[in-house]
Amino acid sequence: MSVRVRIAPSPTGSLHVGNVRSGLFNWLFARHHGGTFILRVDDTDLERCEERYLDEILDGFRWLGLDWDEGVGVGGPHGTYRQSDRFDRYAEVVDGLLASGAAYRCFCTPEELDERRNAAQREGRPPGYDGRCGLLDASEAGSRAASGERHSIRLRMPDEAIEFADLVRGDMAFAPETQDDFVIVRTSGAPTYHLASTVDDVDYEITHVARGEDLLSSTPKHIAIARAMGATPAIYAHLPLLFGPDGKKLSKRHGDTSLRAFREQGFLPEAMFNFMCLLGWSPGNDEEVISRDEAIARFDLDAVQKNSAVFDTKKLEWLNGEYIRALDPEDFIGRVLPELGDLTAEQEAAFRSLAPLVQERTKRLEEAAEQVQFLLVADDGFDYDEASWDKQMTKDFSRPSLDGALGVLEGVGEWDTDSIEAALRTWMEAEELSARKVLQPIRVALTGSAISPPLFESMDALGRESTLARIRRALDAMG
Ligand code: GLU
Repeated sequence: MSVRVRIAPSPTGSLHVGNVRSGLFNWLFARHHGGTFILRVDDTDLERCEERYLDEILDGFRWLGLDWDEGVGVGGPHGTYRQSDRFDRYAEVVDGLLASGAAYRCFCTPEELDERRNAAQREGRPPGYDGRCGLLDASEAGSRAASGERHSIRLRMPDEAIEFADLVRGDMAFAPETQDDFVIVRTSGAPTYHLASTVDDVDYEITHVARGEDLLSSTPKHIAIARAMGATPAIYAHLPLLFGPDGKKLSKRHGDTSLRAFREQGFLPEAMFNFMCLLGWSPGNDEEVISRDEAIARFDLDAVQKNSAVFDTKKLEWLNGEYIRALDPEDFIGRVLPELGDLTAEQEAAFRSLAPLVQERTKRLEEAAEQVQFLLVADDGFDYDEASWDKQMTKDFSRPSLDGALGVLEGVGEWDTDSIEAALRTWMEAEELSARKVLQPIRVALTGSAISPPLFESMDALGRESTLARIRRALDAMG
């Protein structure tokens, strides 16, 4: 049996990291077993689905290098792989289920259902549907429906427990009293997620369904539908949910959880891929840095852990720094350049000269772009960071330091890192001035901030004229 797995996003919002992790684990499983990875779209909810979200989702998977073998955009033997194109197919399945008695029409109104649910709760009985319309005569129900009476369609759940061996959670059993006859077609005629998802899984010959544990309670329903269709249900693997470092379920409270947000903050796809691999799985030792090929070679669904996975952005930042440092310098430059906008040839050269030092010191591309921003602004076109100014430019030593440094720098012959450093250090030693009292004010004068790439290299990259102009500007600003 060749492995066939799928990811089935609903384009009702941005691509959430939880869905990315599910996609990644399915992809790794398919690649490990030489199987097929399918991307289909769960877009039955036409009101909430938007094409722009679908674009963002596809783009996100591509960015991470999770290529799909069949599905939206790439095609395959099963049509468009969009649920919105398959309503006829779902109706055909439902006709079969009605004919066999596996499903039945339900004429209970929402008010009646509410009333009976409340009564059941009061009396300590299970609040699920009581099966009332399952007792109606099928042909009579058919005539009522034909005459236009509003109804939904429910699946008749079996009387025995639904059992399956979950690849992650082990043997699972759902007792019949916890499984009511659930809706597969709404009163509006629209198929529910349970129906559409299962029909797709059956039709696309999905062998394994790996998805978040939040969907565990749906699985007995899906198994029941597959069996009622006369199909063998897929093998299930429920992946542990993602939690923040505070032990709470990952949510907006922990910051933006869309993949796009991480991409915009300058995380590399390689680092993101590596980080997400470790959300519920580990290569079997304490290794944190794992290559794509190695992950494919070692991954398997039955090695996924049951306990919740911690989404720790500190760890992601650390990993990203590792990946940034490992980049070929030219590759690093190529990734930061788009973040910098249009550059003149001079600005680009200045950036390039500082790039290796920035590469050493950065955890995110966005941060790298911030660190070199001072090279791209006019000498009088930037603001001073307030805290940095207060700390460095309002002290007794501030003015004499900058005045003295200006004089020394005016006398530097060849403008390069070594000559700048030698001239300043010789003067500082002679005057017994500490680096803190001299170099920090210069840094603020040149970059607007007390944090910047190494100073002498920064002065070199900035050039003599700008360096002197900025020190003069800072002296003026001191009043
Ligand atoms: N569209 C569903 C979701 O995004 C798919 C769940 C499933 O994998 O069955 O949650």
